[in-house]
Amino acid sequence: MITVENLSKSFSANGNPVMALRDVSIDIDAGSLFGVVGPTGSGKSTLARCIGLQERPDRGVVRLDGLNTGTLDGRRLREVRRQVGILEAKPELHLERTVAGNIAAPLEQLGLDGPQRRARVGNLLDLVGLTSRAGGRPGELTVGQRRRVALARALAAGPAVLLADDPTAGVQPEEAGAVLAVLDRARAELGVTVLLTTPDAAVVRRICDDVAVLEGGSLVERGKVLDLVADPSTRTAQTLLPAIETTRSQSARYERSVDIVLIGFASIGALLPEAASRFEVEVATIGGGVTRVGDTPVARFRLGLRGMQSDAALAWIAERGGHITHTARGPQGIAAA
Ligand code: ADP
Ligand code: MG
Repeated sequence: MITVENLSKSFSANGNPVMALRDVSIDIDAGSLFGVVGPTGSGKSTLARCIGLQERPDRGVVRLDGLNTGTLDGRRLREVRRQVGILEAKPELHLERTVAGNIAAPLEQLGLDGPQRRARVGNLLDLVGLTSRAGGRPGELTVGQRRRVALARALAAGPAVLLADDPTAGVQPEEAGAVLAVLDRARAELGVTVLLTTPDAAVVRRICDDVAVLEGGSLVERGKVLDLVADPSTRTAQTLLPAIETTRSQSARYERSVDIVLIGFASIGALLPEAASRFEVEVATIGGGVTRVGDTPVARFRLGLRGMQSDAALAWIAERGGHITHTARGPQGIAAA
């Protein structure tokens, strides 16, 4: 468990103070995949560097499993740092060494003997999907493959925590999935707690359980991604949910229209037709669509409804986990009222 309490950090740029972090507090559960998202300059890297003990905050505390890291120095600080693997924002590989050699480098520093080292490097190559490239040089790899080598290197010493600062920066979109899959595997197979930063909400949508949204150094939102998307007023929902592109005239054909968020296969597939037949209500999807948050399908629809019992049908859907928000009465509804 990582606890960040009231962290503030400023830098001086050309004599002017820049507040990189303002009173940021977050809790990161052990074994979770936690995303920090925000535009360039919002403080993501500074937060990652404070948690990675590479940077000291001006105020506030970073606790790793309850341990106040602010009080550490010297040997103790180095020991705790070793528990944290770091993928830098711009990782650099040894260009003259092979892929396997790059991954072996931190293990050589730890003093592992040859057989142990080779076994560990073999496992890491498997984990990042680069076994067939073991003997190649970094220069022969794509940006995405190099990023996976850097990830293997960050994981080599068996850290409890992995900090990945913008892991898909500069990676071609078709290769981003392979980089993110490594983070997911590190968590699932090695039990590592993963903190990633990204300016890209799609990265959060694809693999994060939890998210913190930064803006201008301040935390503006945090929570479980699936909880946040269920509430369309959140920033996370606004960026991640499918857009509703519905014209007024489409809504006007119904007595009323509502917006709904449905989470999971069962609710997306079954709730609306079931409500329609139980309450003899016409329920039509007139906008929105389905996306995925991790492995979970999430739908946002604008529905048009017609029928005497539409209130009862909506209440029934809401009781079963449908998140209904915006509701409007169409002209037919007004006429009927
Ligand atoms: P992000 O990773 O979200 O792009 P950063 O944490 O890198 O944001 O930066 C947050 C703010 O702090 C920016 O205004 C940046 O210019 C400033 N900053 C970060 N590191 C330094 C530094 N070492 N010296 C001066 N200013 C810095
Ligand atoms: Mg950054």
